[in-house]
Amino acid sequence: MSKKKHDDSAQTPPAFAEDVARLPWLGLLLEVYRTTDEGVAQGVREGERKGRTLACARGCAACCRSHTDIPVYPLELAGIAWYVAEQLHGALRETLRLQLAQHRATPSCPFLVDEACAIHPLRPMACRHFNVFDRACAEGEDAFHTRPADVLKPVAFHKDKALAMMLRHHEVPTDAERKARVADGSVHTLAQSLRDLRWESLAQRMAR
Ligand code: SF4
Ligand code: SF4
Repeated sequence: MSKKKHDDSAQTPPAFAEDVARLPWLGLLLEVYRTTDEGVAQGVREGERKGRTLACARGCAACCRSHTDIPVYPLELAGIAWYVAEQLHGALRETLRLQLAQHRATPSCPFLVDEACAIHPLRPMACRHFNVFDRACAEGEDAFHTRPADVLKPVAFHKDKALAMMLRHHEVPTDAERKARVADGSVHTLAQSLRDLRWESLAQRMAR
């Protein structure tokens, strides 16, 4: 998804050290995203070794307008709420607040602001995974359907590891049980659709 970002931190994701000390769940979420990003980077390197070029770039955001089925998990929702309420400031915060308050009126992802992801450091796993090789998506195109061979396949090891790690937040007590819930797909029952959520309450929290 949109690789243009409002936060240009060199780390993916940034460490947010002080907040992690205060919010242990945030440390877990950032670890989940570090693992996800490692898998994506490995997938990109494998594609490049085969002569492919990543098309996703800053300012490319057609996917953030056309994708309607972006899964987001409870730990990710906590991260998004924390990030917009505590890390965003100024004009970007106000624009996003208005978008979240009215998001049902627009087909785009409510976090797309000026062709960039306003929550880029805390964007969901699904957005981190979706990358396309060789040619940027046309407006309205979902490359997953139009040219699946160009869509990066997330490295299964990292994807499964990140999902299992996330289940620690849901008090699934053992590593074996977490892996089993990833393997049988039941982990996905936790997900909600980013587009269908009621973001108005987050807009209200931002206003406070
Ligand atoms: S190439 Fe497609 S998937 Fe990649 S950032 Fe652009 S619109 Fe999104
Ligand atoms: S959260 Fe929205 S704006 Fe950000 S990358 Fe995902 S779809 Fe795009």
